[in-house]
Amino acid sequence: MPEDPIRLPEGFAPISKSTLFEHWCEHPGCKKWGGYGYARLKTDVSRWFCYEHRQDGEGVL
Ligand SMILES: [Zn+2]
Repeated sequence: MPEDPIRLPEGFAPISKSTLFEHWCEHPGCKKWGGYGYARLKTDVSRWFCYEHRQDGEGVL
């Protein structure tokens, strides 16, 4: 059995493609790309914010 080179940290679920590629800034009215992800736990759904609104994400933590 070949060894799997990719090992996810324990409790870290693989992300579906749609989640991986479509995370826009969650700030109301903002249409920018959410380059900054925030989650209290690795198992939580991440909240995404753009550079301008990443302070909103700090409140999630
Ligand atoms: Zn934004």
